[in-house]
Amino acid sequence: MMETVRLKPGREKSALQHHPWLFSGAVAGITAPPANGDTVQVTDSRGGFLGYAAWSEASQLRLRFWSFAEDVPPDGHFFRDRLERAWRLRLALGLPERSSAWRLVHAEADGLPGVVIDCYERFAVIQLSSAGAEFQKEKILAGLLALRDWEGVYERSDLEIRTREGLAERCGVLVGAEPPELVEIHEDDRKFLVDIRHGHKTGFYCDQRDNRALVQRLAAGKSVLNLFSYTGGFGVAAALGGARSVVNVDSSRPALELAERNFARNGLSEACRTQVEADCFSFLRRCRGEKRHFDLIVLDPPKLADSKQALTRGARAYKDAALQSFHLLNPGGMLFTFSCSGWMKRELFAKVMADAALDAHCDAAAVLELNQAPDHPVPCAFPEARYLKGQLLMKR
Ligand code: SAH
Repeated sequence: MMETVRLKPGREKSALQHHPWLFSGAVAGITAPPANGDTVQVTDSRGGFLGYAAWSEASQLRLRFWSFAEDVPPDGHFFRDRLERAWRLRLALGLPERSSAWRLVHAEADGLPGVVIDCYERFAVIQLSSAGAEFQKEKILAGLLALRDWEGVYERSDLEIRTREGLAERCGVLVGAEPPELVEIHEDDRKFLVDIRHGHKTGFYCDQRDNRALVQRLAAGKSVLNLFSYTGGFGVAAALGGARSVVNVDSSRPALELAERNFARNGLSEACRTQVEADCFSFLRRCRGEKRHFDLIVLDPPKLADSKQALTRGARAYKDAALQSFHLLNPGGMLFTFSCSGWMKRELFAKVMADAALDAHCDAAAVLELNQAPDHPVPCAFPEARYLKGQLLMKR
């Protein structure tokens, strides 16, 4: 028997607009406490059906909707259908022709809260972050296996947020073969080695695909500084685009070692690249002291604001890195700047970048707004799905 959650009067609005979240404060009562992650029926204060949602007993984010239709409960057929829908969207976007690494399921954005699935060649990497996703694991997996013949499905649920959901972290093979130490993927003409088991997130930043392609198109003849380089994504793109020199900077030695291998894998000459293990903020100051300059700088830090409270401090860090970068740019130089924090909205980000340019006494203009790649869609009912935003700024 499915339990029923009744909302407080007036708290049904967001669900009527198909927003997938409800916080504990909206709940008036429940018929009986379900198991953590189990499905409940949600009604408005008068008992009118709103949808089927997963119950997270430990989290303030108490309910995540699977479906808003009474005749579409989250059963095996439902998960198969959602996965097929996600798959068809990526096919329609021509992603498999362009790359062998892309996001198949982007959680809420694909109607599957708490579920992220990335594909690398014939390996799927799955990340479950909510109690509801964990509860439905078998059905999600069955839907995934129905899509194609995977060589292996690997779980990377080593996420701190799972503790807020009352779940332990978990990594390992779910189905099929153990992924090799490194999987080689391609993205346009760029090749990358991806460490599925130990890399960041599920191993690779597919969300920057289009921005890497843009850097590649604009990098010819330029000296490039790639800050927070991870495994060298933007650096490889720049070098393939004919950059004169590329400096990758990251605090992670394993990431830089893989970056070096990625350059080699793309047949790029050793002479024009440098891997620097350093804190980017100190590195920027050191460069300024040494009067070094660059024609193109990529600034793609990790989330510097991971909560609303951290936004002010985060904004200061984004500004500092951009300000220092403006100092290093040659006239005519380009700054590709990003924030992957959902809390940092585009307007605020643009303001922070503008302030950085003004404080650096740099006459710069924003010439392009940059986004997450389309395998990370943003539903009209869930604008929160937009987390990565960026700008191309040009110094005059
Ligand atoms: N631009 C990359 C992704 C960047 S992820 C791509 O497209 O693939 C962020 C990176 O920042 C990580 O590799 C992490 O090791 C690095 N990092 C985090 N804090 C840092 C710091 N203070 N200085 C240098 N690198 C840092």
